[in-house]
Amino acid sequence: MAAVLAALYSVVALSPLIVVAAIWLKGDMTLMHETGTSTAFAAYGIIALQPVLVARWKWIERPFGLDVVSRFHKYMGVFAVALLLTHPPLMAFGGQGVALLTTFNQPWYVLLGKALLVLLLLHVCLSVFGQTLGLTFEKWRCFHNVAAIVILGGVFVHSLAAGYDLGPIPLRVLWLALLGLTAFAYVHHKILVPRGLRQRPYEVVGIEQETPNVWTVKLAAPAGEKIYDYHPGQFHFLTFHRSGDLPVEEHHWTISSSPATRDFISSTIKESGDFTATIGKTRVGDTADVQGPFGRFCYTLYPEDRDFVFIAGGIGITPLMGMIRHMRDTKSEAPVLLLYANRTSKDIAFKSELAEIESGSWPRLKVVHVLSSPEAGWTGESGRLDGDRLTLMVSGKGEEAAYYICAPPPMTKAAVAGLRSMGVPYARMRTEQFSL
Ligand SMILES: Cc1cc2nc3c(=O)[nH]c(=O)nc-3n(C[C@H](O)[C@H](O)[C@H](O)COP(=O)(O)OP(=O)(O)OC[C@H]3O[C@@H](n4cnc5c(N)ncnc54)[C@H](O)[C@@H]3O)c2cc1C
Repeated sequence: MAAVLAALYSVVALSPLIVVAAIWLKGDMTLMHETGTSTAFAAYGIIALQPVLVARWKWIERPFGLDVVSRFHKYMGVFAVALLLTHPPLMAFGGQGVALLTTFNQPWYVLLGKALLVLLLLHVCLSVFGQTLGLTFEKWRCFHNVAAIVILGGVFVHSLAAGYDLGPIPLRVLWLALLGLTAFAYVHHKILVPRGLRQRPYEVVGIEQETPNVWTVKLAAPAGEKIYDYHPGQFHFLTFHRSGDLPVEEHHWTISSSPATRDFISSTIKESGDFTATIGKTRVGDTADVQGPFGRFCYTLYPEDRDFVFIAGGIGITPLMGMIRHMRDTKSEAPVLLLYANRTSKDIAFKSELAEIESGSWPRLKVVHVLSSPEAGWTGESGRLDGDRLTLMVSGKGEEAAYYICAPPPMTKAAVAGLRSMGVPYARMRTEQFSL
């Protein structure tokens, strides 16, 4: 399926070039000029598919995982801008004259093209560097959504007005079809789906404090509906609607409950920023729009995995907890070694439940807590769970085990490097990152 989708993406993204090649009418333009129009055609195909990639359509997400699709969306945005940056100079030096680049005394559609290129550059720069520049996620998302519409509409108008190459009917039809596809993806994702979710919200039926700054929120399905099906370790998007002036924002969180539990679904959330700082103020009876499930960080999707090493850093325990709970509920006898790093023992979420599962029979769980700043009297492992320590701890496991890692980026990087140094192939490692 992944290969079919990749092929489909290539065909649609390149369709402007394919149609041009098929109906090629020999013109009197230079090769450089033709290359200039081709880069714009290719960029139009890529830009038109950008909203489709992030529309969260299950058939696109499922084979790759939303994180992979989101990263691909980002890289293709950068690639489209790179293509479009070559467009004006190729057109100018290919016959239209250097004045195209140096003066503003140009037809309106050329000026529109220049403005769009600046907006597109800003769009990509803020997507790549926004966080480093201190832009909040919500402000970035707002700009991203509005700029996307302006860019898509503007590129369409510019190409129709400037593009004598768009004379042939098949090209005009294709141009419109791509615009229609992109508009449908955008409206579906941004308006229709959220409206549908708002009409049948889940209800908060429990809120439990796990550690001083970690909370589990339990949600029940709307009356008359069942909790949707999901794999253990997947995530969903939640938009809470709470009393008072608490913020209403959509965020992604792992489902920490087990799919075997049918009366509620839960997420376990750490206070780590301005929105999550309010999570403890959520109350029973509040509601949430729920969209999911997404992701491929789930042992049930890899039936070949039989022997597990789970490596968790802090709140990265949530998908692994979902899987351990599911193994317990389904009476799986799989061996699981959980290496769980935290700062202090107070930061360990699910401590007593993990101990309970460890003392039971399903799965055959062994938990090793590693604390970086242990309190006096701690007799367990202490220090950083870095590559060297990890290799020592899993030395008996080797290549046969499957390694599931969910931790902050530096810890994940160290863990992967440590496992690679032991000869564990990438194919035996599965990672989840808490950023898309
Ligand atoms: C697949 C996945 C699963 C996750 N599971 C969990 C979990 O189980 N428990 C948990 O505590 N955290 C989880 N997270 C992280 C969680 O989404 C962020 O910590 C949370 O969104 C931060 O919000 P904030 O406004 O409080 O923090 P801020 O400090 O404002 O933001 C921190 C960072 O979080 C991201 N972010 C902020 N707002 C949003 C938003 N509205 N949508 C998307 N990303 C945003 C941005 O990268 C931002 O830079 C998960 C993330 C991903 C991608």
